[in-house]
Amino acid sequence: MVSNKLKILTKNYDKYVMPTYTRTPLCLVKGRGSKVWDIDGREYLDFFPGWAVSGLGHCHPKVISAIKEQSDKILHVSNNYYNEFQGKLAKEISKLSFKGKVFFSNSGAEANEGAVKLARRYGYPHRYEIISMRDSFHGRTLATLTLTGQKKYQKGFKPLPRGFKIIAFNDIKAVQKAVTKRTVGIMLELIQGEGGINVADRVYVRQLRKLCDLKNILLIIDEVQTGVGRTGKMFCYQHYGIKPDIMTLAKSMGGGLPVGALVVDRKIADYLGPGTHASTFGGSPLICAGALAVFEAIAKEKLLSNTVKMGGYLSKKIRGLQSKYPVIRGIRGKGLMLGILLNEEGHAIVSDCLTKGLLINCTQTKVLRIMPPINVTSRQIDRAISILDKCFNKITSR
Ligand code: PLP
Repeated sequence: MVSNKLKILTKNYDKYVMPTYTRTPLCLVKGRGSKVWDIDGREYLDFFPGWAVSGLGHCHPKVISAIKEQSDKILHVSNNYYNEFQGKLAKEISKLSFKGKVFFSNSGAEANEGAVKLARRYGYPHRYEIISMRDSFHGRTLATLTLTGQKKYQKGFKPLPRGFKIIAFNDIKAVQKAVTKRTVGIMLELIQGEGGINVADRVYVRQLRKLCDLKNILLIIDEVQTGVGRTGKMFCYQHYGIKPDIMTLAKSMGGGLPVGALVVDRKIADYLGPGTHASTFGGSPLICAGALAVFEAIAKEKLLSNTVKMGGYLSKKIRGLQSKYPVIRGIRGKGLMLGILLNEEGHAIVSDCLTKGLLINCTQTKVLRIMPPINVTSRQIDRAISILDKCFNKITSR
């Protein structure tokens, strides 16, 4: 039931906010860890916090305290000057990943856009083509939309920029066939989030790395959704025993603040020299202080091992549901990035979960996407599973 408070609020949206989103009638006003509260005081367990943004849960105390402290000093500094935190954050990311340099943006799409620009400069003038994968998602700018391997996002925006090619995911032969003398980069997510939690095969990824080395092609890994602890390693590529040439980050790196990062191997970093790329807000002291607190919290609170442990626990519990309900066809993913595959459309389950106090997502119509904060507890998982149990029971007894 929609309350009066919510009715007034949605009216303003209908009148003044552009209609680009399909919105659920829910207004969240407070969040702490895995819990959120709506405008009418109802509590929910958030197992898809902010579309994978609040990876440490909502309002992590370390992030809040870093932002509070910084907001008393200075919020924004032009990138023509230095700020106290940008270099520290870049060093931290480099230390945790590969010897690289970082460019800070405000979103995942911008980070990917930067990756395209760097690859084009690297191959200039003869090589410019970038290959990406079917069912991928890389953002909503024109270039990243063109890289996104799902036609529905491209509909009505033609002509799209040239120099992009989309091929089958997890298929090394498709890559070998698609590479030409103009190819300069290959971009992929190691777990396709929007695409339905499709996990890249280890052998495929290693073959891809070899092929890139052989042909001097840049391997660009989009870790916007998989990065910063989500899969049980700090970055998902670390499961595969390879190293990308470029990695892009965003979402949970900011602990709720808008941030994106283009992380590139030191050898190619200077292809984007002074004047070639910029972002007014990118890497501000406020955002970088918040992001540093995210990395600090992951280390101090041992959240990578919590992700592995709770990921295993959650998978086991979902398998328990699978043995009870034939509508569950399977489960896939890594760490706390899991998809429950259904034999039928999942939107009704998402809505039912919402009414019972659990927030989750459905993608590709039949995949429930479950991505709780990486500091989730087993009690919270038990509660979520009990809600899911009730929802599956309801659709089974229709
Ligand atoms: N790349 C991936 C893998 C994503 O999941 C997303 C967003 O969902 C993006 C890029 C785009 O990020 P943003 O919405 O911050 O531009």
